[in-house]
Amino acid sequence: MLTGPKSALDALNTVFGYPAFRGLQADIIEQITSGGDALVLMPTGGGKSLCYQIPALLRHGVAVVVSPLIALMQDQVSAMEELGVRAACLNSSLSAEIGGQVLRKLRTSELDLLYVSPERLLMGDMLPMLESLPVALFAIDEAHCVSQWGHDFRPEYRQLGVLAERFPDVPRIALTATADQQTRDDIVRELRLENARQFISSFDRPNIRYSVADKVKAREQLLEFLESRRRDSGIVYCLSRKRCEEVAGWLCDHGIKALAYHAGMSADLRSKNQQRFQREDGIVMVATIAFGMGIDKPDVRYVAHYDLPKSIEGYYQETGRAGRDGDPAEAWMMWSTADIVQQRRFIEESEAGDVHKRVIGGKLDALVGLCETVSCRRVQLLAYFGESATPCGNCDNCLNPPSVRDATAEAQKALSCVYRTGQRFGVAHLIDVLRGADTEKIRRFGHHELGVYSIGQDTIDAVWRGVFRQLISNGFLEVDHESFGVLKLTAAAKPILKGEQKVMLREHIASTTTKKEKRER
Ligand code: ADP
Ligand code: ZN
Repeated sequence: MLTGPKSALDALNTVFGYPAFRGLQADIIEQITSGGDALVLMPTGGGKSLCYQIPALLRHGVAVVVSPLIALMQDQVSAMEELGVRAACLNSSLSAEIGGQVLRKLRTSELDLLYVSPERLLMGDMLPMLESLPVALFAIDEAHCVSQWGHDFRPEYRQLGVLAERFPDVPRIALTATADQQTRDDIVRELRLENARQFISSFDRPNIRYSVADKVKAREQLLEFLESRRRDSGIVYCLSRKRCEEVAGWLCDHGIKALAYHAGMSADLRSKNQQRFQREDGIVMVATIAFGMGIDKPDVRYVAHYDLPKSIEGYYQETGRAGRDGDPAEAWMMWSTADIVQQRRFIEESEAGDVHKRVIGGKLDALVGLCETVSCRRVQLLAYFGESATPCGNCDNCLNPPSVRDATAEAQKALSCVYRTGQRFGVAHLIDVLRGADTEKIRRFGHHELGVYSIGQDTIDAVWRGVFRQLISNGFLEVDHESFGVLKLTAAAKPILKGEQKVMLREHIASTTTKKEKRER
């Protein structure tokens, strides 16, 4: 902009044409404009972009926006240009000629905003060149990509910490829609944002109805779900490419307008299918998570999970694509024990190190906890992101409370076992102690001499695991993933141990007790 706006609100009104800021936008913009750092956690569609676009216009120099989404950069640039903002992008997909033009504009201070991929920013002479220019700010979009525990890990993101040293006077803003504590900690540590103010928006999506079904006859259940929604557009997520093809084909055979989308398809067909999904009504996109970032369709009426996703973050991000227009939308998921077993096998067989495997395993457990919960899904989902809420009255559990069984006795045994063994062990060992197993580890620690030894031998492993998952996902136990998945009691565990609070479990996982059942581990 040649003549810049006078204030943040002026920019919002005159450049972007919006009357008022949403949520925390005004505070975030103030923090960056005045030269401070910020970590912004806001759900998809919350309005993160304005948080750096407006400071870009208010501060002197070029604002550098680091983004992994090369495919979307040109769209973002065009959108900015349409508003009269001088923007450009640099990434590996540009010709040398275009790239050269952008660099020339950069040098002659003709840019307000530069979108750049992390590789390009860190390459060759880019940083020295920026050091010689006035830089308004650095925005690091999709900042969760620094976290190696997430599914979007980009190694180059870890190197962005150098910006702190090389540009100590330039404000930095990291933005993400992934908000669990671990990702948050990773971002702060890797990007050196120790002094950043953290802005955490509510992750509640009140118009989405969450429901989770036991997977019995997957295809028929899906078809039944889709029957009453034939005129709506929606996404069905599957775990594998092959499954996508099968399910899409099967739906088509049953008269449903279904398309497939996965990374194994040609780029051509992928973009054709994506365009049809964007433009036509009533299309079901049967996709892997390759279909995700950059979907810009506000009226997706449902997101169905045919298979269990890998984590609550993934689930939240995928379901977040439903109902961005604010109208009622559905998040519907099917799961089975077989899904869990399969995912665990993936984790075990992966190349990851032990710590990594435990973290991924813990994330899967948290998701299973969400599936198994008998209380409000929304409450539990938000609790995972550190937010407290009251029962929503709109999820499956609120609308049709599941039949439950009092599992307080098991919960007390499990918690006592954690306590008596010194809060130094993970689930597998604790279950061994409860079940009275004869292992080397038990003998080494003398756990066969404890009062809790074998007090749970009548209850099978699978039930104990369900009990532990519930205790974790309800916040009675916390897991230390960095030290072998050790479980510790939280303050909330006390009322259960003292018999002041009950623990309810879903009937079907709570009642499958038999002495003879084969040990699973
Ligand atoms: P995010 O990056 O958090 O997913 P975006 O920055 O793409 O979200 O914003 C989502 C949508 O909301 C965009 O269409 C944007 O123009 C719009 N938007 C953002 N802030 C405001 C506001 N203060 N008033 C009106 N619309 C807004
Ligand atoms: Zn609810």
